[in-house]
Amino acid sequence: MTGGYEVDQFVDAPDEDLICVICRAVLRCPVRLKCNHVFCKECILQWMKRQVKCPCCRQPIDQNQMLVLFKLSKSIGRLPVKCRNAQQGCRATFPLSTEYLHSSSCPFEWQICPHEGCGQQVLRKDAQSHDQICSHWRQLCPMGCGALLMRDNQALHNCYRDLQRRYLADRRRQRAIAANLRRKMQRMQSRMAQIKRQVNLMCESLEVGELEVDAGEGTSAWTETTAPSSSHSRQRNTRVRFI
Ligand SMILES: [Zn+2]
Ligand SMILES: [Zn+2]
Ligand SMILES: [Zn+2]
Ligand SMILES: [Zn+2]
Ligand SMILES: [Zn+2]
Repeated sequence: MTGGYEVDQFVDAPDEDLICVICRAVLRCPVRLKCNHVFCKECILQWMKRQVKCPCCRQPIDQNQMLVLFKLSKSIGRLPVKCRNAQQGCRATFPLSTEYLHSSSCPFEWQICPHEGCGQQVLRKDAQSHDQICSHWRQLCPMGCGALLMRDNQALHNCYRDLQRRYLADRRRQRAIAANLRRKMQRMQSRMAQIKRQVNLMCESLEVGELEVDAGEGTSAWTETTAPSSSHSRQRNTRVRFI
């Protein structure tokens, strides 16, 4: 039975009074019977499943007269122990009651590689270097794009750079469209100016023609028209020369 704490775990050999006679280890959650003998709580409960007499003095055990020794439990908790990873190389010692604190950060604690399909055991201190070479390494893109990065595509993946490139390309395209529109507008504007000039020229020559008609001159290509002159609202028939 191994209900208590392993004797080898302690920095100094524990006092014989602290040893449970049932498990031969240091008392874990000690309880005292009516006869004053002390055992680990778990050990004496297991013992009582088979026997009802004290393992030391054979007196009958009265379950109602069992006392949990909290003070003794605390003193045992203060005893210095060695790290259970001493074999792997940890030299740390600490009070027994803080063991869980140390083991949760002990660099020599065995851990299983968290990457699916790997299953390799690695010391906590080597976890990072194993991560570098683990062929099952996978990670969601830390930029939050949702891509699952693997060892072989990780170096190529750069969603931020891709986004930046796409953004720049979009901007270039939009600028090109805007410049194109500007050029078209300029062409239309100059075309319109050209048409305006031509219209003006036509109007001018129409006026010249009317003046000639008014003066009663000119002999070629006369045509009758009843419409009033475009530039002068004169209410009379006139002749216009088409040029
Ligand atoms: Zn015990
Ligand atoms: Zn006894
Ligand atoms: Zn350790
Ligand atoms: Zn791995
Ligand atoms: Zn990404």
